[in-house]
Amino acid sequence: MGPGPSNPYPEVIEAFTRPVMGHLDGEFLGLLDETCDRLRAVFRTGNALTFPVSGTGSAGMEAAFVNVISDGDTVVVGVNGVFGERMCDVAGRCGANVVRVDAEWGTPLDPQRILDAHPDPAVIAVVHAETSTGVRNDLAELGSAKGDALLLADCVTSLGGIDVRVDDWGVDIAYSGTQKCLGVPPGLAPISVSARAVERLHCRPSSWYFDMGMIANYVSGAGARAYHHTAPISMIYALHAGLGVVLDEGLEAAHARHRVCGETLQAGLEARGFTLLAPAGARLPQLTSVRVPEWRLPTNTSEADIRRTLLDCYGIEIGGGLGALAGKCWRIGCMGHTARTRNVTLVLAALDEVLASD
Ligand code: PLP
Repeated sequence: MGPGPSNPYPEVIEAFTRPVMGHLDGEFLGLLDETCDRLRAVFRTGNALTFPVSGTGSAGMEAAFVNVISDGDTVVVGVNGVFGERMCDVAGRCGANVVRVDAEWGTPLDPQRILDAHPDPAVIAVVHAETSTGVRNDLAELGSAKGDALLLADCVTSLGGIDVRVDDWGVDIAYSGTQKCLGVPPGLAPISVSARAVERLHCRPSSWYFDMGMIANYVSGAGARAYHHTAPISMIYALHAGLGVVLDEGLEAAHARHRVCGETLQAGLEARGFTLLAPAGARLPQLTSVRVPEWRLPTNTSEADIRRTLLDCYGIEIGGGLGALAGKCWRIGCMGHTARTRNVTLVLAALDEVLASD
């Protein structure tokens, strides 16, 4: 959501104009090291193996699973939205015996049900911030009671927008994406891997491209860097710049900015009689799911028409519902550079103008 096209921070745009260095150039490797340090700061981790996977958030998901799952391993996956479903698909393709723990879309997962689902899973996997529903799932309880399992968390929509504490919460593999609360275009998947997960990485995973052992030789900073694949230089400049903006602002301040926007937007929607999908306490500030206010759709106007008008006339893009929620919900993102109260004011005012009065 935001006025006009969703431009990232000016510092990020400028990063794309930097001359492209060679991917083994010492200056570039220094910048890559600094990027990994900045990622450790936002993930709140000391994990040595923390780096940007070349690819979008889904590449992070794939890299996370393919490096630790062997044929027949049990993976317990919490599913309460599209991205939990995607985790099941990816884990299944890696040969896992997938044990699903479903919760109704729009409600948070119950950590105890996940912990009780299997006595000895290799991996427990959960989406921290379900972008398809606007629900936050708890990680800390899973981390403290996971036993021998690895805890794998999708932090694509949470990183930079709400607290993510990889070390404190005992998350073993966390991956994210650049285009959400980090305010950088899509193209990289920051990932962080704990020491105990590093011990369980396959020496020869079925994916060559996402072989973390091989990639570690390139990104690890120590000793000679071995070529693995050509790093997407300009994207790494951009991530470096975007993380710089977040850390200059301060992680707490960035979270507070997202929180204020989310709370203001959600209060504004409720004041208009709209129904939020997620229950209080599990709502993401950066992604608000609201049921389409059918009674306020003008005659012969669909919810998709309203979204189209918002985009064409106000430069505001809001998402439609996904899966079973298609046509029933709107998803309003307030992430990264777009998380500004002026954007909240604008979207509420625009809704008032395009919807029929009560
Ligand atoms: N996980 C979550 C929670 C997401 O919201 C998304 C994308 O929106 C993904 C994974 C996949 O990321 P990408 O579309 O960047 O591949």
